[in-house]
Amino acid sequence: MHYISTRGRPERRKFCEILLEGLAPDGGLYVPENYPLVDDVMLNRWRGLSYPDLAFEILSLYIDDIPPADLKAICAKTYTSKVFGTDRITPVRTLETGLHVAELSNGPTLAFKDIAMQLLGNLLEYELARRGEQLNILGATSGDTGSAAEYAMRGKKGIRVFMMSPHGRMSAFQQAQMFSLQDANINNIAIEGVFDDCQDIVKAVSGDTDFKQRHRIGAVNSINWARLVAQVVYYFSAYFQVTEENSSKVNFAVPSGNFGNVCAGHVARMMELPISRLVVATNENDVLDEFFRTGVYRVRGRAGTFETSSPSMDISKASNLERFVFDLLGRDASRTRSLFDDQLRESGSFDLSGDPAFVQVADRFGFRSGKSTHADRLETIRDTWHRFNALIDPHTADGVKVARMHSGPDMPMVVLETALPVKFAGTIREALGREPDRPQRFDGIEDLPKRFEVLPADAKTVKSYIAGLVQGGAS
Ligand SMILES: *Cc1c(COP(=O)(O)O)cnc(C)c1O
Repeated sequence: MHYISTRGRPERRKFCEILLEGLAPDGGLYVPENYPLVDDVMLNRWRGLSYPDLAFEILSLYIDDIPPADLKAICAKTYTSKVFGTDRITPVRTLETGLHVAELSNGPTLAFKDIAMQLLGNLLEYELARRGEQLNILGATSGDTGSAAEYAMRGKKGIRVFMMSPHGRMSAFQQAQMFSLQDANINNIAIEGVFDDCQDIVKAVSGDTDFKQRHRIGAVNSINWARLVAQVVYYFSAYFQVTEENSSKVNFAVPSGNFGNVCAGHVARMMELPISRLVVATNENDVLDEFFRTGVYRVRGRAGTFETSSPSMDISKASNLERFVFDLLGRDASRTRSLFDDQLRESGSFDLSGDPAFVQVADRFGFRSGKSTHADRLETIRDTWHRFNALIDPHTADGVKVARMHSGPDMPMVVLETALPVKFAGTIREALGREPDRPQRFDGIEDLPKRFEVLPADAKTVKSYIAGLVQGGAS
């Protein structure tokens, strides 16, 4: 298996080569040269597998530069009930006939990003050891991504994490999750500014090629192919849990921001897992809903990006969409480049509404979309609680709301649960006037000692802080 860039640079790369990279050198995203197909025989064989064995089978189709025994061991080490609280890893529960929730949020930080990030941590540690290299991961977070990265990388040999977050702006629970980590290789930097300032610093530091190379700076953001392919696995797992035979089709509804999660669903569908619809749910930040409804992709500015009660979906652009558009345009790299490079740079938007390919978005690729607002979220949380005695978080509520707009009578709809309610207690209180249950292991987490460094929103200061620690010797 080789990987190519969506923008046409000719080099073909292997999985472990792109593992430590973000964007391709031409600014494109890496995609597999082709999507391996599954057939009835394979699906039947996979139906009975445990999650780690299923992960191994699927990943093996995309990774042929790690010896199978090693890859199998990495999957077994990653997907344990100790880390994910359950042997099933992503159990599916039923709300009512035909409406299911796939629990993706039982990992250490109670959000779906753990599923991919935990695998990435083990893959990186393996590959860095093999190369005798070290990596310093620099990131910006407003909550979920950063904590998932830290819990995946803590204690990993050869890896250090520098995670910036806006000082005093995360929820008490999110702060406690990140700042209570005492591992020497985890460094929390609280930036005196907002999330965008943190992101600007990441850009400034990564844009300094000399600093970046000298200090082996890398990222683990959502465009990373390894994260995406890890997510493909739970679409298969959920499919097997809600069907009895492979002639049945299933719909998925996915609370979306950067289009990473649902892009994995697109990959699973391209592999011919019997998925009918892929329903993209957005909040008030409806970049994706607008694209799927109208064909217009319009990146928002800071002023046009809202702070909502499903904050992990508050995005101004959908970084992974380019992977889908590449497929939609018949893998025409020069058109993809012209849309995402030239047109977005010039006008901040592009318009495929007049393109014959656009009808295929729904007809051939199965996409549907919808938008959910704060009022919808509260109403859906209440309704789900009162009718099914099930508590869902605000992001999952966006998924349930939009799923209902697109579910048919005869086909199961699986909503992906992207976080647990305890992470967003304020909104749960607003909806229900009660506190969300908290898994026991998080009792008293806010009272633990915190470890973080407050720095001004200034790239130079952050650089010298990093340089000081890296030169002091990585763990
Ligand atoms: C990251 C995140 C999302 C959005 O996922 P994308 O892959 O960016 O589309 C949705 N819900 C939660 C809770 C998240 O953490």
